[in-house]
Amino acid sequence: MPDFAGLYVHVPFCKSKCPYCDFFSIVAPDRQTDYLEDIQREAQLYAQSFGPFDSLYVGGGTPSALTSEQLTELIAALRTGFSFEENSARQTEVTVELNPADVNSNLLAGLQQAGVNRLSLGAQSFDDAELRLLGRRHDRATALHAIEKIQKAAFASLGMDLIYGLPGASVEKWRRNLERALSLNPEHLSCYALTVATETRFGELHAQGKLELPDEKLGAALFEETCRVLNMAGFEHYEVSNFARRKEFRSRHNQKYWQRVPYLGLGPAAHSFDGQNRWWNFSNLDDYRKAIQSGLRPVESFEEIDNEKARLESIALGMRTSHGVALELVLSRPDADEQVDLLLNQGLAFVERARLCPSQKGFLVADGIAKLFC
Ligand code: SF4
Repeated sequence: MPDFAGLYVHVPFCKSKCPYCDFFSIVAPDRQTDYLEDIQREAQLYAQSFGPFDSLYVGGGTPSALTSEQLTELIAALRTGFSFEENSARQTEVTVELNPADVNSNLLAGLQQAGVNRLSLGAQSFDDAELRLLGRRHDRATALHAIEKIQKAAFASLGMDLIYGLPGASVEKWRRNLERALSLNPEHLSCYALTVATETRFGELHAQGKLELPDEKLGAALFEETCRVLNMAGFEHYEVSNFARRKEFRSRHNQKYWQRVPYLGLGPAAHSFDGQNRWWNFSNLDDYRKAIQSGLRPVESFEEIDNEKARLESIALGMRTSHGVALELVLSRPDADEQVDLLLNQGLAFVERARLCPSQKGFLVADGIAKLFC
């Protein structure tokens, strides 16, 4: 199967800003119409030079901060503006991220009509106190209601995002959250450890000593519990934070990032990769719009990837996935033999089909393993 490119669209709007979030997102409903016009123009600037694609991922921000009509029209326009590779046996994977508070029957019907077959729901937790702490717009009942509606609508795949490692976390509390998520039969689960970026509200509180986070030992125990509970439920752990009920429910789109397959990102702050170069758009709606209105690609910066950078990227990304990294890439460093032996002896990695792959224990220190070969 050839590796087709992926298409990503960043919708930078949210209805409110969560205190832990450092993504580029703003609360500005009055700018949505201009943004939609700009995205279409940006798409035209790439339509002849990128594709065909076999995945489309609409993320954010909160795509469902757009109206149902705006969101479905955006997807429909992208599907006609670019070339997508699909046949009766293999459809393009079309994913949209949704906030549980925005889910309604009208939206779901529109998304289905636009060809969306995979939904990623920002559930984050099924505990109301945790949801309040995270500043989410929804509570547990809203999330359950949204999931029921999505499952009735019978999308091919439903994924949920969950966050662990919150202040006051315990292994028992997190296990209950995971079990609640599993009882809802998702096809995919992404479980992220809370990270606190300095420029967020959580960052400020942490600096003032008002937000106590789990220590390293508890953080490791929470990760191990995630792996244990989801493995027991039959999920495959295919990336540090990502678990799929079966192989076909993995995120085709996100695997392109980890396997260095080209992708085009549209919208402010979106990143792109064409196999040799990376570039990223302005993280500012004004600069983004100014470039588009002048007929220019809204690129803020650009990086050429030489062979050594490509090798380092392959190792850093590969060691975060069950696919691992080709041994020949790892062994091109003089002392790499000894490092590999050490990893194998410590049970942090194993070799399969000439690839060095992280074990479950290795996933916990994946970034550290990658650094050994840089
Ligand atoms: S909804 Fe998502 S993107 Fe928006 S502020 Fe919250 S975490 Fe950030």
